[in-house]
Amino acid sequence: MAGVLFALAWWWRERDVVRHDPALSPVARRVLRESPGSLQMARSVRISAYAPDDAQAGAILDEAAFSLPEIAMHLGVEPPTQPIRIFLVASSNGWEGLVRATGSRPDGLAVSLRDEIFLRDGGVEAARPDRLAHELVHVVMRDAYGTNVPLWLDEGLAGHLGLAVSRDYRSKYGRRVTGKWAGLSGEEVETIEKLTQRRELPEDPAAARFFYRATQELVTLIENRIGSARMPAYVADVATGADWRVALDARLEGSPLSSADLEEALQRQVSLPQRF
Ligand SMILES: [Zn+2]
Repeated sequence: MAGVLFALAWWWRERDVVRHDPALSPVARRVLRESPGSLQMARSVRISAYAPDDAQAGAILDEAAFSLPEIAMHLGVEPPTQPIRIFLVASSNGWEGLVRATGSRPDGLAVSLRDEIFLRDGGVEAARPDRLAHELVHVVMRDAYGTNVPLWLDEGLAGHLGLAVSRDYRSKYGRRVTGKWAGLSGEEVETIEKLTQRRELPEDPAAARFFYRATQELVTLIENRIGSARMPAYVADVATGADWRVALDARLEGSPLSSADLEEALQRQVSLPQRF
């Protein structure tokens, strides 16, 4: 009898630890508390993944464990040493509460705060294959360069690198990531100067979509010009305050390329539908 009680007590404590990990933020605790069923956890040394079932938690852990060192390698930095926690938020009530608590966009697919990532479950958009890698790029950038990284660089890298890494991850299992972006035009289009000066996402959903797409294309164009080997130092310079254009032209000196026609190249890229 005592053994059974002890086992029960132990089991209870284990469940309790999952729910009340003292390192969890109030937002994460709320997500656990408001989840309709108890969340399952899959854990490695540095990553904990919480999801409604074991298979989902395991899949998130596997992808994150693959993506984190890849992303750090592309950026030329060390992966974060602090634990990262990832939550699949299954209920729409849970997501709405999260949006209210964090002041984030209701139309978002994911939110990352410090070392915690919240993924919205369900819906067509939630199935975007690059969203976990996208959020992990933000986590790695924040760990390496703090919270003052220019928004265009942070989102552009998350889009560009997130897609590349999620493709690598899926190709490991013989799967391909393919899709198509519609061409954008008209009033949504902003100049590079405006894009690179933004400190917040545009309120309007169409303008926000343009911002994500354009910053991703801008980072891709820059990488195509300077080459991927020079990207880590370029990112480090701009993330720590250098002017993006000055840092770019410095790396193109002596070549026929410059930043001069970038505006035109970017407008062309975003106006065309792109298959990937
Ligand atoms: Zn983002």
